[in-house]
Amino acid sequence: MNNIENLYRQVIMDHYKNPRNKGLKGYPHIHLKNPSCGDDITIEANIENGVIKEVRHNGQGCSICCSSASVLTEVLSGKTVDEAKDIINKYFSMMKGEKIEDEEELEEALVYEGVSKFPARIKCATISWKALEKLLNGEHDE
Ligand code: ZN
Repeated sequence: MNNIENLYRQVIMDHYKNPRNKGLKGYPHIHLKNPSCGDDITIEANIENGVIKEVRHNGQGCSICCSSASVLTEVLSGKTVDEAKDIINKYFSMMKGEKIEDEEELEEALVYEGVSKFPARIKCATISWKALEKLLNGEHDE
């Protein structure tokens, strides 16, 4: 393992062990499951006037799933809906192994770059991002 992979692993384990913005507050939410891994995650977002004021998560799953939900809340809170959609699309492109421009916009989410080499784990790394994408498109669970 080279230095950058080691650093990425440390960031992932830190978010897994010390999740940020965990626990729901009652904002509109989307609940998604990944049966192949047991990931079960709810993402909620407080969106006002086209700006994401707060993103929160709850649930359980593997280290990739839970840590990426935590990273998502930090990277996308405070962004406009349009900025967030752009960042989410970049993240999905990265998961497909595509070369992306302005990758620094992904901030800490760049640590999941290596997941693109493990197709079975891509669902784990994208489930919370897919949930937020649905919220940004106006969908939510009852
Ligand atoms: Zn998983």
